[in-house]
Amino acid sequence: MAVCPECGGELKFEPSQRRYVCLSCGLSLTRDEIDEIKAKYAVTAAEDEKERLRKEYLKWWSTKK
Ligand SMILES: [Zn+2]
Repeated sequence: MAVCPECGGELKFEPSQRRYVCLSCGLSLTRDEIDEIKAKYAVTAAEDEKERLRKEYLKWWSTKK
């Protein structure tokens, strides 16, 4: 199931418009737009993970000394 990137509500596919429409806020997106947003989120999540690992490494390094 697709989830609205704006409010986290449920996206329902509207065959007549060939778009996904959010049941909560009414945002409408094409399949391509959803994929684009998902790809962007995936990059952001990867960056956060890198930052977290860097901090953990620094913490580990400072306790070593
Ligand atoms: Zn929404």
